[in-house]
Amino acid sequence: LWDYLFGNESPLQKFDKSLPAYIDGLDGRTLTRGQLEESSLRLVSGLRALGVKRNDVACLWGLNSLEWVRTAYGCMAAGVTVSPANYAYAAHEIAHQVNDSGASVIFIDPSLLPVFDAARKELKRDFPNERVILLCPPEKKPKELAQYKVFDEVLGARGQPEHFPGQQSRDTAWLCYSSGTTGLPKGVMTTHNNMTSQLQALNIGYQQLVSGRDKVLGILPFSHIYGLTIVHFQPFTVGVPVVVLPRFEEISVLSAIQKYKITHGLIVPPILIILLNSTNVDKYDLSSLRTLMAGAAPCSPELTESFNKRFPHIALTQGYGMTECSPTTHVCTGEEVEGRAGWIGRLLPTFQARLVTEDGEDAKRGERGELWLRGPSVMKGYHNNPDATEKTMAPGGWYKTGDVLIIDDKGWYKVVDRVKELIKYKGFQVPPAELEGILLQHEKVADVGVIGVWDEAQATELPRAYIVAKNVNIKTGADRDALSAEVAAWLAERVAQHKRLRGGVVVVEMIPKSPSGKILRKDLRVRAQAERDAEVQLR
Ligand code: ATP
Ligand code: MG
Repeated sequence: LWDYLFGNESPLQKFDKSLPAYIDGLDGRTLTRGQLEESSLRLVSGLRALGVKRNDVACLWGLNSLEWVRTAYGCMAAGVTVSPANYAYAAHEIAHQVNDSGASVIFIDPSLLPVFDAARKELKRDFPNERVILLCPPEKKPKELAQYKVFDEVLGARGQPEHFPGQQSRDTAWLCYSSGTTGLPKGVMTTHNNMTSQLQALNIGYQQLVSGRDKVLGILPFSHIYGLTIVHFQPFTVGVPVVVLPRFEEISVLSAIQKYKITHGLIVPPILIILLNSTNVDKYDLSSLRTLMAGAAPCSPELTESFNKRFPHIALTQGYGMTECSPTTHVCTGEEVEGRAGWIGRLLPTFQARLVTEDGEDAKRGERGELWLRGPSVMKGYHNNPDATEKTMAPGGWYKTGDVLIIDDKGWYKVVDRVKELIKYKGFQVPPAELEGILLQHEKVADVGVIGVWDEAQATELPRAYIVAKNVNIKTGADRDALSAEVAAWLAERVAQHKRLRGGVVVVEMIPKSPSGKILRKDLRVRAQAERDAEVQLR
């Protein structure tokens, strides 16, 4: 990967190494590819001085920052596997990832240190102070943390990059954890080869979405593999700088778009919902923004159309992928986007795909099937988890995605839903994402999450919607009930019988979501269980 990005064969040889590749969206600091190469080679000797060897694992835990980027590339140059962690993790979650990944050094945002300290008692190994490195510029080092070094303080003399010829390019470059939507997050071993072929595929399939004059919004968490593509791809193949922002925060994102004249953004659907409901967008000049690509979670035709109506100058498309495929497998490009709101696009050229029905047959055109994928970007396997690897890989190198899709006669794909999340109402299957897309159009619904709740009497799951209200004053239980009834009746007019919200509509303050944009249905299920227990007690 290092050779691909910095070597003679790299697509960026044609770009000037002294131009900014990353811009800190808050303070305007810049990082050029030349500076990045220099600091990476100096981190190689810095890591060796700490006794960190090739194929050791470094945990990288912080909000997006230039130091985060420098750590990632420096570890890559040193042949050290990087396991980036979600900044929103609580103590037991970071402990799980540090233990499971076997990390022996951690690069950490100073603001997360208290959580790490709380996690220490659950850690399998000790982290002496020199193996805890702070992600901040030297001048921002907190005084009370004098016992630790910041990133720049561990740099040594310029070292040699590790090269990964042949067999060794199957060493693990990245150990990202999947989002944990359907269970515990799994460590996904992404090899140097996997990521290199992903970048080559994007270079062919995605290139036309950005041009040399663009600036890209770096707002998705870099620790998630979708955000990670932004770190690698735009600055290194098309020479487009990334404006790095620590996390999604409405005002700082809007002002960064205006200030840096950002042209292209990779985002997740909840950001579209926030922009649609926002009263601040008109206060900023967003005219530079031409394209947005949504991914990581369902983006319905209804949401796409509402967005297009409100922001006609921004072309909104979708991408699709998963941690196990490094990650992007589909993108929307070309004129066929027209009339395909809610579709995820075509397969990137380095992948092969099958849609497999429940009977194990290949689905016919227009028929639903589970997506299976094969190709050089498919992971080596799950770390420490041969059982999960075996369950998810089919003979012939096929990775079973667990997602149900359809394909049309032009080779365009559409996601129906996850196999595990389809609600089973009697003999029917109800995709929650489809109902969410429709419900979001109701004028009094700001946000929504749908789950199936078990009904003992009828021995079936019933679709239930949790909604956040807008444009309506809710003071009493009666107001709440009225809104619930209104929304349920409104939906009933728009969907087939079996998709009606027989499990009810519950008004809530917010819909739980992960930083990578997914509705945390498991949290809604916990809530549903609690509501049920409370009800039983009342009775
Ligand atoms: P886990 O595997 O731990 O349960 P996860 O699958 O959510 O979590 P990720 O690898 O972050 O972890 O997400 C990949 C999944 O996200 C895909 O399998 C798919 O279900 C969903 N996804 C990604 N892009 C899209 C999209 N454009 N539309 C709908 N769903 C998407
Ligand atoms: Mg998954």
